[in-house]
Amino acid sequence: MLETEYFNVADVFGEDVFNDSVMQERLPKKVYKKLHEVMDEGRELDLETADVVAHEMKEWAIERGATHYTHWFQPLTGVTAEKHDSFITAPMENGKVLMSFSGKELIKGEPDASSFPSGGLRATFEARGYTAWDCTSPAFVRHDAAGATLCIPTAFCSYTGEALDQKTPLLRSMEAINEQSLRLLKLFGNTTSKKVCPSVGPEQEYFIVDREKYLQRKDLIFTGRTLFGAMPPKGQEMDDHYFGAIRERIAAYMRDVNKELWKLGVSAKTQHNEVAPAQHELAPIYGKCNIAVDNNQLTMETLKKVASRHGLQCLLHEKPFDGVNGSGKHNNWSITTDDGINLLEPGATPHENIQFLLVLTCILRAVDEHADLLRASAADVGNDHRLGANEAPPAILSIYLGDQLQDVINQLVSTGEATRSLEGQRLHTGVKTLPDFMKDATDRNRTSPFAFTGNKFEFRMVGSQDSVAQANIVLNTIVAEAFSDVCDELEKADNFDLAVHDIIKKQATEHQRIVFNGDGYSDEWVEEAERRGLPNIKSMVGAIPAYIKENNVKAFEKFKVFTRAELESRVEIEYEKYSKTINIEAKAMIDIASKQIIPAVIQYTTALATSINSVKSAVAGADVSTQSGILTNISELLTEVHTQLANLKDVVEKASAIDCCQKQAEFYRDEVKTTMDKLRKPVDELEMLVGKEYWPMPSYGDLIFEV
Ligand code: ADP
Ligand code: MG
Repeated sequence: MLETEYFNVADVFGEDVFNDSVMQERLPKKVYKKLHEVMDEGRELDLETADVVAHEMKEWAIERGATHYTHWFQPLTGVTAEKHDSFITAPMENGKVLMSFSGKELIKGEPDASSFPSGGLRATFEARGYTAWDCTSPAFVRHDAAGATLCIPTAFCSYTGEALDQKTPLLRSMEAINEQSLRLLKLFGNTTSKKVCPSVGPEQEYFIVDREKYLQRKDLIFTGRTLFGAMPPKGQEMDDHYFGAIRERIAAYMRDVNKELWKLGVSAKTQHNEVAPAQHELAPIYGKCNIAVDNNQLTMETLKKVASRHGLQCLLHEKPFDGVNGSGKHNNWSITTDDGINLLEPGATPHENIQFLLVLTCILRAVDEHADLLRASAADVGNDHRLGANEAPPAILSIYLGDQLQDVINQLVSTGEATRSLEGQRLHTGVKTLPDFMKDATDRNRTSPFAFTGNKFEFRMVGSQDSVAQANIVLNTIVAEAFSDVCDELEKADNFDLAVHDIIKKQATEHQRIVFNGDGYSDEWVEEAERRGLPNIKSMVGAIPAYIKENNVKAFEKFKVFTRAELESRVEIEYEKYSKTINIEAKAMIDIASKQIIPAVIQYTTALATSINSVKSAVAGADVSTQSGILTNISELLTEVHTQLANLKDVVEKASAIDCCQKQAEFYRDEVKTTMDKLRKPVDELEMLVGKEYWPMPSYGDLIFEV
């Protein structure tokens, strides 16, 4: 029986966070005010204020059981990093220690940068790296088996200030969109909004499997995905898992996850079963861009940590199982002012909302001009199994607007004037006892990679285990660029109304090719997109060069989000990441095939041969053709496994000898990955022929249907 421990959400929410109410309660008024000036207006933080904040933060953390503090940062490894220091100072004369934490320790850390990916920045600059406190994202105390630790969200830079992490460029991009949005709002007569910030709500998909079974799969352990595995008799074709009743074991797990997240101030809100068996989703309530990115990292960590407590394993990989839907992350994005205005709110009659139409067409333009960059922002090794591989979403970037906005855009393009907006209709169910209600003016489209959903855009390409930072850095920057260009024009226009009108029409017309409301999975769309000249970038390796394409570099440099050197370093890191990941996968395959699969198949064939011989000697002339047929079939497949295994070893060796990182990554994609597929094929066929008790690992059926 599962024990249910009841608790009041309001009591636990944020209890481990040094949030605004804690600060207000614990900090002297003057210090609290000063800190807010830093947080809200970007003023510089003086050491005196930092000292007081640090002291109070430490006292609070110690009350919560913390013994250590860490600067918590997001290097380019894809996961978070931390180095723990305890609060103790040198023992005093009397042999006792004091607990201390200074302002300097709060605002600056010095982890050795040389062991983190820097993509060549390290070769030209020093190895020293700094972490700097991001005071706009609250500190928190994390509890785990090792005790409690005060975690301070930080940015991570090299000695000369180059970004070595996700957060630094993210914060820079937020400044860019803040500045340009304020310019735009001012042109429309808004003088009250002081700050503009992107709002982000990332929906997180994941798989849950039994941990005991997970531990019997070396492929899952080493690579996060299965490298072999035949499809079970039942896959996801019945669609009975999506939104289905959540099983008790999973429900207990989710409950625990939610509680942990709520304590950390992460507003976990929605949970449900996803399309694939054993697949689930968790969505928070949206928040400020950098906090949402931090919270998503915490969510991923928590999903994994809590799973092991329940004898479960959380798989965040984009494609843990071939033939079954993969996992992604939907990055919901809008732009909000400090006084609560959402720039993406169309209102009931969008055709009259000139400011909205300008913002909308700026986004069309930004996405059209930088489609390759947005695609690159979602590129990840695991995501290659989804984007462009017959799975949601397609690799071609397009925007879904829905009937209502599409109609407004059509009017603008054809006549230069939008005079009406489609209205939502009454929904009639035909059942008297069910209430009729007004439905939205626009239906949803699940196949679009970039869909307008009411008052936000939903970018659906990001991979499930990737940080959402990169996607938001790109979105913030390219939209800031479009805003900046139109502001340049509008600020010098003689007739503002006329100029806005012209820009809206021009942008809608010039960039309507990026809008597509149809079925994004269809083959016709692939052809149509090609006719429209939209990029269809099928792999991560093919996507990476977008970072250093001239127009993209220009946008990043203009808003000081990335320097060219930083972009070049990121390109190198991405290629390396690709090569290293495929290399690990290939080596894991070689290991599993040689040490587990081939020996198991040999055992089975031996048993089969022995059985044939004993049947023959027991009954003279007995028909053993079935057994012999199976034996022959298996032996042939075994030969094929042997051949492909040799080929794989060969290409892996060749790959490691290539020294240009782009060429190497291309070789891994074109040669190593294809050979891996060739090795997998006979192995999966063998799994269907070899007796279950001989097969050295749990099957897909065991993993996804028996949680
Ligand atoms: P949908 O069903 O349209 O995807 P949900 O209500 O499930 O919408 O929201 C999905 C995610 O989008 C949630 O994380 C939610 O908080 C977030 N979200 C909702 N409104 C906005 C907004 N204006 N800006 C950014 N994110 C938003
Ligand atoms: Mg959604």
